Amino acid sequence: MQLHINNAFTESLPADKISDNYVRQVKGACFSFVNPTPCTEPVLLHIAPDVAENVGIDPVDVESKQFLDVFSGNEIYPNSKPYAMCYGGHQFGHWAGQLGDGRAINLFETVHNGKPWTLQLKGAGMTPYSRHADGLAVLRSSVREYLCSEAMYHLGVPTTRALCLVSTGDQVLRDVMYNGNAQNEKGAIVCRVAPSFIRFGNFQILAANGDIDILQQLVDYTIANFFPHLGVPNKESYIQLISEVADRTINLIVEWERVGFVHGVMNTDNMSILGLTIDYGPYGWIEDYNPDWTPNTTDARDKRYRFGNQANIAIWNLYQLANAIYPIINEAEPLENILGRLRDQYETAHYKMMLKKLGLEDDGQFSPNNLSDFEHLLSKSEMDMTLFFRNLAQYNGKNNFEILETLSEYSYANNFDQYLGLWSNWLSDYGQIIINQNLQNRTETMNATNPKYVLRNYMAQIAIDAADKGDYSVIDELYQLLMQPYAEQNHMSKWASKRPEWALNKVGCSMLSCSS
Ligand code: AMP
Ligand code: MG
Repeated sequence: MQLHINNAFTESLPADKISDNYVRQVKGACFSFVNPTPCTEPVLLHIAPDVAENVGIDPVDVESKQFLDVFSGNEIYPNSKPYAMCYGGHQFGHWAGQLGDGRAINLFETVHNGKPWTLQLKGAGMTPYSRHADGLAVLRSSVREYLCSEAMYHLGVPTTRALCLVSTGDQVLRDVMYNGNAQNEKGAIVCRVAPSFIRFGNFQILAANGDIDILQQLVDYTIANFFPHLGVPNKESYIQLISEVADRTINLIVEWERVGFVHGVMNTDNMSILGLTIDYGPYGWIEDYNPDWTPNTTDARDKRYRFGNQANIAIWNLYQLANAIYPIINEAEPLENILGRLRDQYETAHYKMMLKKLGLEDDGQFSPNNLSDFEHLLSKSEMDMTLFFRNLAQYNGKNNFEILETLSEYSYANNFDQYLGLWSNWLSDYGQIIINQNLQNRTETMNATNPKYVLRNYMAQIAIDAADKGDYSVIDELYQLLMQPYAEQNHMSKWASKRPEWALNKVGCSMLSCSS
């Protein structure tokens, strides 16, 4: 492999002075150098060829021993010096102090076709930030991260990506439901790829520790490398940075809503400064359009990270980011102005996105009030979100009977009949608008906005169950399928169907713990 190694992050920012690998509080630094822990018997289970190409890895090199050794953590690539980042975060609304890359190790940065990429192993052993845990990851959660981050990319949602999935040959002890039944599981490593893995928490920890000089260095670094259009780093560009991160974050949430994704752990350490989906843990996909649904068992009581609350939390998290960067701005008003506009900005973006899902033009015929009534109906009648929107493109304003029949099939409610009248009225009103608007490309727009295939919770679980038995074919089948989520792929239609009965209460399909 011939990669253009670039150590911009570690060369620009202060390193932890201690180089031994033991758990500690790190002060006055943005990262600690640390090598991956070698694993026993790495096997390459899957690779994303387009990600390899993006970062400058030749297709033939993917087959090499060096590829497997480097991306299983068994070999350090020449001229690179792996490191773990220092960050803090608010977890479930409370400041948790230092967190950091407890089981992520950044191998190196590359520049390919003028674009910077950081390649990071998740699950390659302990770092100074591992706290009480082991730095490892199990196959189950690694399959979920690998498939979902690639699925999100192909859906067009901003996300970190995944280069490859490797099983380590080592056993990892996990108590999946936190009920005292710990069991050994297969260990695995995902190589994640992003222009940068900097999170809100990287800034927060520096502010919390009073390391204001370093905070400024990190902000300057972020602007120079990832927001160069903001110009020279100064107070004005710091304010603009917050504004742009806010825009990207709001856009991200609306994109999640478009495809029905629930992150599940929107702690500030899991919020990317680039507005990417990051850290795929107990995430889930909305099936019956329930805004109160959270996939995360740890969040079951408060439902802080429920589908319908993601925008509120994103805004709350942006307040924490602004607070962290405030010490180098020292002026509240411009920040308050940015943060104060976010709720309206979100509402508008959400409304526009939903109009697009409905294949409607923004001419006032379908008002925000109509939208909230409609969302309420979707939710009350427990409508499968993905099937509903995809199929709505078939409606032409006249074939009401046919559409109503399919809608009743897409509902999870056992009393759907009681909503038939409401749906019938809704279809007539909506049908009138589409007839009035008479848009040429309505079906195409809808089919490019409403995916046919998403990684339903039970689908990932089928791939995991097979992988646990040594059959990796379902991982590949889903990977191939989800590379074209908007294409019909009729031979794959079985994956475009409602959640099966057996998946309703199965662990991994309806609720997930953070244990990974
Ligand atoms: P999360 O909310 O799952 O992204 O993780 C919160 C923090 O816990 C981060 O600092 C992670 O690096 C750390 N963490 C999670 N799992 C492990 C693990 N198995 N070993 C070490 N650190 C971990
Ligand atoms: Mg995290």
